[in-house]
Amino acid sequence: MGISEMKNPESVGILADETETGFDELAKLPARLERYSNAKERALINLSQVQEKINHFSDSDDFAFKNHLIGLAPKIAQCGDYLRFREYYTVNKVRLAGAYFCKAHLLCPFCAIRRGSKLVEEYSKRHAQILTEIKGVKTSMLTITIKNGVELAERQNHLQKSLQKLFAHRRNSKRGKSNTEFSKVIGLVGTFEVTNKGNGWHPHAHIMLVHREYIRAEKLKEEWKKITGDSEVLRIDPAKHPKDPAQDFLEIFKYALKFGDLTPELNLQAYEVLRGKRLVFSAGEFRNVKVNEDDLFDTPLDELPFFEHLYKFYSGSGYSLQKSQHSDEIPDRKTAKIDQKRVNQRDLDQWCGHMVKVSKKLREQHKKDAWNGQLRPKL
Ligand SMILES: [Zn+2]
Repeated sequence: MGISEMKNPESVGILADETETGFDELAKLPARLERYSNAKERALINLSQVQEKINHFSDSDDFAFKNHLIGLAPKIAQCGDYLRFREYYTVNKVRLAGAYFCKAHLLCPFCAIRRGSKLVEEYSKRHAQILTEIKGVKTSMLTITIKNGVELAERQNHLQKSLQKLFAHRRNSKRGKSNTEFSKVIGLVGTFEVTNKGNGWHPHAHIMLVHREYIRAEKLKEEWKKITGDSEVLRIDPAKHPKDPAQDFLEIFKYALKFGDLTPELNLQAYEVLRGKRLVFSAGEFRNVKVNEDDLFDTPLDELPFFEHLYKFYSGSGYSLQKSQHSDEIPDRKTAKIDQKRVNQRDLDQWCGHMVKVSKKLREQHKKDAWNGQLRPKL
């Protein structure tokens, strides 16, 4: 497969909408709800695949994986069922303040979008810092690939081990023990991505590099061929958006969303191989960037008054508004985050019960007219 086929403007677009300046404006809430709703629908398709797998487990399959899926299924089912947004009406901003996340970002696009936006945010900050602290730094995007193959686990391991060797060459070159193009790299952050378009598994990595000297692609190709023994396809491009590096980070972190390009069956196979693996890696100046993957909420605007809107997901019709409350009516507003450990539906309903009593009438009405563009009900 050629590198040009790896582009996926749609997944970049989704992440762009989630991270662009002003994404939290009130006017953008309907688009945001639609984005989450589409993600949730896809998660439900993956969930039926999970269910299918649980029901048709064969003796040759990994039993521990079956147990894992049995535990995971209810989490995916409930992920993003309820969303609690705070509308800071004095500044016209809306922030996500409550939700249950399954955190299975390889199977759940909703969690993938939220996680991706956090990664873009934190690594963009570090990048800006590097540019101000170190003069004459260039930014490049490296796409580095491994030849297609039948076994994903084997191909993925080959890619990871080969990258480790390349990074080791970089470290050794500092001690004069190795001569590599990668010695010019002063910082990198990258992600893995896998595709399968009917021609076997194709794992590859997208890596953002910061460096001072020009990196020769031809020389790097030779090194990569030597390391891998079977692969030489890679490409280096200068960063496309030097004035807005967040745009380039979208290219790096869109990967998880691209699992949606796989059929649900292949998506689950990829999940089995990749779960528990570190899919984001960094070195040099990008080391130790902290991204709290437990907190997928937006940053609250604590001092401002707000309306809190509770939405519930209905498959087929999307998110529908259940209830709104003013911040003055929420006595424990600072501590009212959903407890991530609580995953069963009864607990979730109880949690919602403390701030909203969803009347049957309200449910029926929302089923009828779903989202009608009205952001706030009459209070
Ligand atoms: Zn999720």
